[in-house]
Amino acid sequence: MNRIKIKDKEFTISITGEQIQREVKRVADEINRDLAGKNPLFLSVLNGSFMFTADLMRNITIPCEVTFVKLASYQRATTTGKVKEVLGLSEDISDRTVVIVEDIVDTGLTMERLLETLGTRNPKEIHIATLLVKPEKLRIDLDIKYVAMRIPNDFIVGYGLDYDGFGRNYSNIYTVVSENE
Ligand code: 5GP
Repeated sequence: MNRIKIKDKEFTISITGEQIQREVKRVADEINRDLAGKNPLFLSVLNGSFMFTADLMRNITIPCEVTFVKLASYQRATTTGKVKEVLGLSEDISDRTVVIVEDIVDTGLTMERLLETLGTRNPKEIHIATLLVKPEKLRIDLDIKYVAMRIPNDFIVGYGLDYDGFGRNYSNIYTVVSENE
């Protein structure tokens, strides 16, 4: 399927499932090499990263654990504005090597808040593994160690990512077709 329609928007294929699998395997190989002997705890941020997490973990061959969290954002009257609360993290991460598994880093604000929150729980180290980065949108100086793919600043769906709840099920990634195309 080269073109899909979700609600009012048309999308066209931009990254095939084969390309994704190749890059996910490459990232897994890097992690296997870098974090051997560290028993990393993979922290998958739902919902968007469920497919990436599944495929990444299938290629991780070192001893490790995986857990799943959700982020709830709520407004707080501080200078930092929105606060991300981490829901569902029952594991003790103190003195652990943590790998955050994210679907996409856009402005980087979500990741910055997540790092702040996790940092208060005394992990030994935190690494970021993301399927996608939009470098043109990145507003924060983040040390993103593991990136499967860098993409232009367009809205995408598929492979876990949604438009209004739909589109997460596709094994390819699709980019929105602009109105004048
Ligand atoms: P950030 O805080 O980095 O600006 O935003 C990250 C979050 O925005 C991602 O976890 C994802 O939920 C959402 N997001 C950013 N860009 C896209 C996109 O192109 N498509 C979809 N479906 N979600 C996106």
